[in-house]
Amino acid sequence: MRKKQFKAESKRLMDMMINSIYTNKEIFLREIISNASDAIDKLAFLSLTDDKVGIDRSDFAITLTIDKENRTLTVSDNGIGMNADELENNLGIIASSGSRRFCQENEEADLSDTEIIGQFGVGFYSAFMVSDKITVITKKYGEDQAYKWESEGIDGYTVEPCERETVGTDIIMHIKEDGDVADEYSQYVREYPLYKLVKKYSDYIRFPIKLLMPHPVLKEGSTEENPEYEEVFEYDILNSMVPIWHKKKTDVTQEEYDQYYQEHWMDQNPPLCTIPISTEGTVSYEALIYIPKQPQSQYYTDDFKKGLQLYSSGVMIMDTCEDLVPEPFNFIKGVVESPDLSLNISREMLQQSRQLTAIKGHVEKKVKAELKKLLENNREGYEEFFKYFGRHLKVNLLDSYGQNKELISDLLLFYSSTEKKLVTLEEYVNRMTTDQKYIYYATGESVTSVDNLPQTEIVKDHDMELLYLVDPGDEFIPGVLGKFMEKEFRSIDDADLGFEDEKTEIDESAFKDAFDFIKETLGDKVDEVKATNRLRSHPVCISSGDGITFEMEKYFSAIQPGGIGAKAKRILEINTEHAAFQALNTARETDPEKAKKFATVLYNQALLIAGLPIENPTEYTDLLVSLFR
Ligand code: ADP
Repeated sequence: MRKKQFKAESKRLMDMMINSIYTNKEIFLREIISNASDAIDKLAFLSLTDDKVGIDRSDFAITLTIDKENRTLTVSDNGIGMNADELENNLGIIASSGSRRFCQENEEADLSDTEIIGQFGVGFYSAFMVSDKITVITKKYGEDQAYKWESEGIDGYTVEPCERETVGTDIIMHIKEDGDVADEYSQYVREYPLYKLVKKYSDYIRFPIKLLMPHPVLKEGSTEENPEYEEVFEYDILNSMVPIWHKKKTDVTQEEYDQYYQEHWMDQNPPLCTIPISTEGTVSYEALIYIPKQPQSQYYTDDFKKGLQLYSSGVMIMDTCEDLVPEPFNFIKGVVESPDLSLNISREMLQQSRQLTAIKGHVEKKVKAELKKLLENNREGYEEFFKYFGRHLKVNLLDSYGQNKELISDLLLFYSSTEKKLVTLEEYVNRMTTDQKYIYYATGESVTSVDNLPQTEIVKDHDMELLYLVDPGDEFIPGVLGKFMEKEFRSIDDADLGFEDEKTEIDESAFKDAFDFIKETLGDKVDEVKATNRLRSHPVCISSGDGITFEMEKYFSAIQPGGIGAKAKRILEINTEHAAFQALNTARETDPEKAKKFATVLYNQALLIAGLPIENPTEYTDLLVSLFR
């Protein structure tokens, strides 16, 4: 029979598996058992709506069979099975996203250094770490023909029809001979090591994992005084079958919670937070929710699908149930089990289910509480969380037009001018002095660029704290929040910053001619030229008034390049006490050409400091140079 070739990436993975000198080869059993459990889950789910399945829930099982003579270990299940196409597609190409990621991350890795293998779910191929030949016999539910898939590794695989009486799958692994290390592979055809492995990695599997185990029984005819034993083999169920989310918090160690998370969601890192939930009330449910340390690779892509696994009375109804996940916390992973959900419920009805909505609301509260706890007790951990997921929280706040502000506002962090670190709005308000009216903020591209804005001087001069809003979209946050703890926000660009000592009006009439001159020189580039009293060491600044800010303008043009977009006003504010302005004013009469140059230089300087592009950099630098002559 002609051998078919594995796809390139699968080949590479298999090559790694076969040649792996990785010490944790034993995880192969966990992978094969977990596939068997998934296959049973699928058939168990079908059986809810299809009477023809004919298997009682209590008959679902995973059976391990050892053949010591032929050195084979077989993992059998009575799950959904595979047809010929599925065998090709699932085992001929690399199916699991975990394996794919493993392959990618190990592109250049030295094979002797692949300690990482165990941290990924590497799937079916991991069986090649311990086997030199694998045979899969499988029959799909609803089909008459069974198929045999066979492979000895890289060379390829064959698929042919075969006999199998019932629906399900046998994975027959021909175990490698021991090399230099005694018992390295032989342990996989012995009962006790297998028993220990199942306990270690697959104890939570919710279907019985059976193995014929030797039991000593009194030999017939032997007496109590003179007992003689013989070994009788009986099927034992090796796993406790209690899912981890059913266990009491106090009975599970953090390592066990971490291990469960890492294996199920294929994460290299343990989770940042683990939230076991058990409630009874209007809706009773049990859940195990995790907040990841870092987003997984597809988090920022369209492929990302939020969701929690949903179980009802021991049956998995959905692998990724979106409707359970509150959108602001779309990064959470985990499992929810509720006996209140009818098993026969269709997915469409599930979406409208009141119970689901109630559970989602409750999960939201729990996650929020956990994040607040983290913020209070582990600032570093929270800042790490915020680095990865803070932007999502802010986007959600804006997308929901502030509907989620109660939930999100106290989770936000902004850089503070006085603390020189990220602070919460609550911390800011608690530090406000009695004469401070507003929460001051400045928007810009980065902390350094905002810090250099001339407009910040006056707030700093008053020893008041300023928040720097430097992420895209941040400038919309104050508007959406309106107030925080009864305090209004105020941008440093606002004409009225509420400082009593700045209230004195400047007599603009004294400078009217100068301002008209500047406006005329700059033409349409500026909308207005006016005096300001909020500058100290700087001669000018550019502001946008009360409407659209420069950051908003940048934001809109980024989301709609070339579009009509919204344009911010450009107001040139002048520190009339500054020597530069005075020089301009004098030159206006003595050397108007020079005064024009001064005006243009000051305007460009204001643009530069505000992080805005200057229209013609060459012209500007030429102009500057000409002033030296
Ligand atoms: P993963 O389980 O992460 O998807 P694997 O490489 O372990 O990746 O398995 C590939 C696919 O092969 C599975 O997704 C499943 O569709 C199929 N498969 C593996 N084992 C079985 C089994 N015992 N019964 C039915 N299908 C199986």
